[in-house]
Amino acid sequence: MKKILPLLFLFPLLTFGHSSQLSTFALVKDANGTWTAHVSASFEAFEMVLEKNKTRSAREFQEELIERIKNSIQIRLGLFKSVTLSNGQLHLGHQSDVKFLVHGLSEQVETLAIQNQIFKNHNNHFVVFKVINGTVESNQVVLNSLNDFSATVDLMPTRIVVKSASAFPSNYYYLSLLIIPIMLLFSFIYSKRKILSLVALAILSFSCSEDDNPTTTPTVDATVPEVYKKIYGASSITSDGTYITIKTKGVPDHKSPYYGTTNSLYQAYSGTTFGGLNFSKNPNTIVEQSGTFKIPVNPKVASTHAATPLGPIGIAINGVPFFNQYAGPNNQELTGEMASFDQFYGHPQQSGMYHYHVEPLHLTTVKSTKSGLMGFLLDGFPVYGPQEENGTTVSNSNLDVYHGHTHATLDFPSGIYHYHLTGTAPYLNGNGFYGTPGTVSQ
Ligand SMILES: [Zn+2]
Ligand SMILES: [Zn+2]
Repeated sequence: MKKILPLLFLFPLLTFGHSSQLSTFALVKDANGTWTAHVSASFEAFEMVLEKNKTRSAREFQEELIERIKNSIQIRLGLFKSVTLSNGQLHLGHQSDVKFLVHGLSEQVETLAIQNQIFKNHNNHFVVFKVINGTVESNQVVLNSLNDFSATVDLMPTRIVVKSASAFPSNYYYLSLLIIPIMLLFSFIYSKRKILSLVALAILSFSCSEDDNPTTTPTVDATVPEVYKKIYGASSITSDGTYITIKTKGVPDHKSPYYGTTNSLYQAYSGTTFGGLNFSKNPNTIVEQSGTFKIPVNPKVASTHAATPLGPIGIAINGVPFFNQYAGPNNQELTGEMASFDQFYGHPQQSGMYHYHVEPLHLTTVKSTKSGLMGFLLDGFPVYGPQEENGTTVSNSNLDVYHGHTHATLDFPSGIYHYHLTGTAPYLNGNGFYGTPGTVSQ
């Protein structure tokens, strides 16, 4: 089990604004074939599971909580053959979790129904569901806002896919009668191809009336300077004293029409976008990346200024990459692409990598301000929004050919060279990096 537990910390711990809660629900199979069910949530969320107006000792609190959670999870194999949970282990802390042994699931699992009602009475509670089989992890699915959820999970030797389905009627009983036989048929067909099929139904309760969107809470090294901790969308931020290494999934924490329609952050859009253009969706869909940015911790001006490449040239504080002012090779104009920027001025390219070429509107209007730190380019110099702290709008004439200038900022009171996002080309970077760029890998 010890080998499996660290995997849990690889889950992006999504956090929400003041009033939203998030938990992770995972089925994990270790190398010995033992299945465990894990629920990870904040202490406050677990606390809300039990009625408040009752005095309990710490021990009673834990026992009652484990029992309540156990009774809120149901796993059924095939047609209502129940799987049992035992050995509830509770860990309480800032991020609390409870783990159960799962009995009755074997390698031959084909159809599985899962019901999770732990947080059904919580408002604004989101649950992320995921399956881990040894070192193979499925994609994760944020369960939707309709208080019900179903998915098919294909268990294959090298990958597990949780396929979220569109919303089902909210009545679990009806769902069971209708869906499980269909999935059994589906499993039967696929079992001929020796693909283990797992049907997971998780019935959840939450209603979210706010626009608080999930953001990743990065794991951050103690040695990382404070300013880099503003990159709240990173998965992890570490430092070796020379380079800051930032790992990111690169997906936006705001709504977008480029998310798959089953994603909780999907939102249709048909208004105007950057430059007043009428939005025109490109054919791409957002895909989670695994990007690693290495940027110098002490950026210095370079003697020769390297041109920025196509692809990521920096990272925004929400973990989304910045791209330069060109649409393609040989400095193709960006203008043709601009209509495909979504309501927050980003879009995905062919492989699904979401990015910003211009002001990331969610960051300048929701997460920060027009004069706030927006991220860093690969050379380690910071990127600021389209205004200075005194409220004046920065124009290209205030900036050098690399699209920056030097003065003190809130984050760097003794002064630093920094780029600004502007409303006209080149928007973010001009004739290359001011400093020597670090690296980015996918
Ligand atoms: Zn682009
Ligand atoms: Zn400035």
